[in-house]
Amino acid sequence: MEALKKYDVIIGLEVHAQLATNSKAWCSCEINTHALENTKVCEVCSGQPGTLPALNKKVVEYATKMALATNCQINDLSYFDRKNYFYPDLPKGYQITQFEKPIAQDGYIVIADALGAEKKIRIERIQIEEDTGKSTHEGEVSLINLNRCGTPLIEIVGCPDIRTPDEASAYLKKLHSVLTYLGVCSGNLQEGNFRCDVNVSLHPKGSEKWGTRTETKNLNSFRNVEKAIECEISRQAELLDRGEKIVQQTLGFDAETMKISVLRTKSDAHDYRYFPEPDLIPVYITAAEKIKWKEELPELPEAKVARFITEYGIPSYDAEVLTADKKLASYFEAVARAYTGEAKKAANWIMVELLRLLNEFNIDVDKSPVESLELAALLNAVHDGRISGKQAKDVFLKMFDEKKGADAVIKELGLVQISDTEALIEVAKKIVDSNPTQVEQYLSGKDRVFGFFVGLMMKETKGQANPQIANDIMKEILESRKV
Ligand code: ZN
Ligand code: MN
Repeated sequence: MEALKKYDVIIGLEVHAQLATNSKAWCSCEINTHALENTKVCEVCSGQPGTLPALNKKVVEYATKMALATNCQINDLSYFDRKNYFYPDLPKGYQITQFEKPIAQDGYIVIADALGAEKKIRIERIQIEEDTGKSTHEGEVSLINLNRCGTPLIEIVGCPDIRTPDEASAYLKKLHSVLTYLGVCSGNLQEGNFRCDVNVSLHPKGSEKWGTRTETKNLNSFRNVEKAIECEISRQAELLDRGEKIVQQTLGFDAETMKISVLRTKSDAHDYRYFPEPDLIPVYITAAEKIKWKEELPELPEAKVARFITEYGIPSYDAEVLTADKKLASYFEAVARAYTGEAKKAANWIMVELLRLLNEFNIDVDKSPVESLELAALLNAVHDGRISGKQAKDVFLKMFDEKKGADAVIKELGLVQISDTEALIEVAKKIVDSNPTQVEQYLSGKDRVFGFFVGLMMKETKGQANPQIANDIMKEILESRKV
């Protein structure tokens, strides 16, 4: 980016992650994004006068687990506050959140920077809060769906430690993978279960003083975050180049048109008239709970990467790709355990062939038409020399298309590779005997003619000869004619 030569960029991210509890934060309404509009609503979450919220204990457990997994300090005692603002999809007129004392603070995660070096991105705080309802606008009519009201969220506020769009995306991917490894968030980006606000400011290189920042709201894909940051950097750089000032604003990003638009001039914290939520008691986390939840943490992405490198001998790049998604990591492990060859081969097949098709058809790895053990069976067929690597690709496509097992497809396609040395020697001898001219050429030093013999060999066996064995046998027979 041109602007990066002239300006330093400061980026800070705030992530809202929906907690994967069965019921809402303050009432027992079911959380169900696909339910009919306004059917998962009660007196509490629709903000009726005289009702009282009661905290869902799972919310505390899930938020604490995320805090533990991101090296945060847990506040044994934390409080809820009201953030007051009026919006039709917020019937209470305020959002219950944590302001003065959140559940956790001062954490970090580690990402790889542009040069591959480890970089710590600090987390300022993690707070528990509730989601709002959803409004849709159709022509002159606005419709409100309150099903999402009171759905528990954690807001993860990152420190402004990020410097490039790539780092922003690496940070988000890491947070996303930790959340989904823990199982505390479904991580579904399309459904808005993981969304991000981006703060960006620019200042001239070498300047100590940071510029005025803008906030771009509600980005719900890694790609859009990168794009939005790039657009905002260019926009601010153009303004600064012209000697204009950056205004502190809340912005929206349209991924279709790649345009930034102004939503509103930024509100300051005092505009929200925060005050302690009188209807909820403080959250107290006991030492025993903290110990129990810590023990329950699963193997996290970083530990898995390290283990894959040592246990399976795969490069760190492969380990990073394969562990980004917990389900993909289990798939790889199942293949690698059942495969008799080197795990690197299994990693390649998964990263290249399998992921290409899964992405193309938008299929989740746990619903892959080729199951892990079937992929291992296919790779074993290649490893044992029953089929060639090239044939395996055709077999794989058919397995994927028709949801069939490796052995069934190999049989169906009649693809049995001839590794029987005796049979191949017979074929080779016949070829050599019936092509005396070419044999003469070979013997007089024209090595290039060797390809002609191997070609005939494959033709005679309808491509089923094991290429390595065919090669060796042909060489041996031709060489034996030399004397
Ligand atoms: Zn409810
Ligand atoms: Mn928030």
